[in-house]
Amino acid sequence: MDPLEHASIPTLLYLALSPTPDIVGIVILVAGAVFPDLDALSREHRSYLHSLLAFLPAFLTGWYFGGYPYLFVLGWLSHLFLDLFTGVLPFFYPISRKGYGISVRAVLGLHVPKLSIGILSAYPTPRRDYELNLGGSLALLLLTLLVIILRLH
Ligand SMILES: [Zn+2]
Repeated sequence: MDPLEHASIPTLLYLALSPTPDIVGIVILVAGAVFPDLDALSREHRSYLHSLLAFLPAFLTGWYFGGYPYLFVLGWLSHLFLDLFTGVLPFFYPISRKGYGISVRAVLGLHVPKLSIGILSAYPTPRRDYELNLGGSLALLLLTLLVIILRLH
């Protein structure tokens, strides 16, 4: 999942569910939502910041303080939730590098449609260059910006 999707999806939820959304809240939520991918700067992507060993203490701290710190960790939580469906999360990194994810695949075409759901298991990918196709994500971001304007107007 790319940063535009990671930013847009929790923002839309925040705008839909918060009785009093504000721009500072959106900025903090988005910062939390893209923060875990700073792992891409380390030796392995989806490593330290995708681990529950880093997330759970941060989540409890954010939950304790509430307000904007809580929004930051909710953004982080949304990132982990979304990544769970697009690859694997190493829940106990660096103690264990092995990660798990949920695979949902649909086969459509000339035959009877098939849906399969399974558990993925893999190790984090080494650091490398990424090529992202941002077309669909850019459309999602533009719709999110429209909702921000309409909701905060
Ligand atoms: Zn990620």
